[in-house]
Amino acid sequence: EGGGNMAATGEAEAEGLCGPGTGGLALLGLAPGAPSCPHGPALLFVKTSQGKEEGRRFYACSACRDRKDCNFFQWEDEKVSETRLAAREEHNRNHQPSFTHRQNVERYKNFVLLPLSKRRFCQECQQLLLPAEWEKHSDHQFLCDISTAQLKSPSQLLYPLENKKTNAQYLFADRSCQFLLDLIIDLGFRRVLSVGTPRLHEMIQSKASQEEDFRVRSLLLDIDFRYSQFYTEDEFCHYNMFNHYFFGGEAARETCRKFLCQDHGERVIMVTDPPFGGLVEALASSFKKLMAVWKETEKEAATYYNQIGRNNQEMPMFWIFPYFFESRILEFFPSFSMMDYQVDYDNHALYKHGKTGRRQSPVRIFTNLTPSMIVLPVEEGYRFCTICQRYVSSGNQHCDICNSCMSKDGRRWKHCVLCKKCVKPSWFHCNNCNCCALQNHTCEKTDAGCFVCGKAGHKRSTCPSLS
Ligand code: SAH
Ligand code: ZN
Ligand code: ZN
Ligand code: ZN
Ligand code: ZN
Repeated sequence: EGGGNMAATGEAEAEGLCGPGTGGLALLGLAPGAPSCPHGPALLFVKTSQGKEEGRRFYACSACRDRKDCNFFQWEDEKVSETRLAAREEHNRNHQPSFTHRQNVERYKNFVLLPLSKRRFCQECQQLLLPAEWEKHSDHQFLCDISTAQLKSPSQLLYPLENKKTNAQYLFADRSCQFLLDLIIDLGFRRVLSVGTPRLHEMIQSKASQEEDFRVRSLLLDIDFRYSQFYTEDEFCHYNMFNHYFFGGEAARETCRKFLCQDHGERVIMVTDPPFGGLVEALASSFKKLMAVWKETEKEAATYYNQIGRNNQEMPMFWIFPYFFESRILEFFPSFSMMDYQVDYDNHALYKHGKTGRRQSPVRIFTNLTPSMIVLPVEEGYRFCTICQRYVSSGNQHCDICNSCMSKDGRRWKHCVLCKKCVKPSWFHCNNCNCCALQNHTCEKTDAGCFVCGKAGHKRSTCPSLS
């Protein structure tokens, strides 16, 4: 178990190999009038087979891929009785957090007034406790003497939700978080919409409260409601990035809108690090909606953005995601490019930096900013390729035939003249499959051919009939 598996699953999924049986599930998206679960409007799916849609369409929870976390399910054409509707509404109400965000903000104000000796955090309920509540939590484990420093780094205090399918909270290593923030500052941004990046948000918040001349602000959007204990309604919105749902309703939506549109939308960047199991098209659709909110007031900001080389159509964005999703992301955001920088994580043994003898991280930054502006640290081995006009990994050799630095994983790739492209160093050309593959692979059988054209030798993601 662990990151290796996650990476492998992700890679298979990115190549369209996963899903029940021989087919898979296709996402149809957010449908008007969709029923809701506790996580907002459900998404519409259809079961596919051999690349064709077939069978009934159904609604399922947008946020939880594990039925244990939310078992919402409804056929699209299903008649739902009044009794079941009422029960569902009741269920949705019961699954709301016990305190509202407002209440949590009030509780926090009272909490910080307490002397250190009375500041407790219940580890089982993941909750700051006021003295009157100690009794109720008396047989729970708790931390005491919660310092101001601890309150300023909630991501250290809260345990990371590691449920692989649903939350998958992988926190940035300090080095990567610092790198991102320095990059954001060097590019001249003043506001960061942190979507699923609590640690980046926390770094910005704590610098803003400590350093007088620090001008960057951040708004955190995350589905993890525990953060509402530490941030006001102007600093955190309870948000589901798979269906663009604000749990706090219109007021929260407006907070986000104001944040994006302040100063005519100038100097704002969105940074997101979604769970990797996530459905790329659902994420892309939400991110496009956030971009559209920004675009409303972008018009006057065009001059500034021309200066920093940004395509003036889009809100600047860093989407942090594994490299094997590159083609999926580019499908939805053709203006994006993938940077070679390897993003490291704290609680993910396998995703730490290669230089220290551990495995290399497959996680990259995708951005719509001009690649040459994303300066990667030379002391970590990145160098500037003058032909590609971007920073690349030290092992990423420029290929004269492809005319580009082709490595995706930081290792030196080799050019295959038969495939007419660069491939992983561990691959060899297989005449049977007519493409490069691992030496010990099992050759594609005709009956397990491509979903699109049915031919052997490739998967649907690389099907020649699609290009
Ligand atoms: N590396 C980041 C954390 C990324 S982990 C950091 O250190 O700041 C993924 C984050 O996305 C978690 O904070 C998790 O709570 C959040 N998340 C998971 N599912 C979500 C959803 N459906 N909507 C919004 N946020 C979600
Ligand atoms: Zn749900
Ligand atoms: Zn090449
Ligand atoms: Zn080859
Ligand atoms: Zn073969």
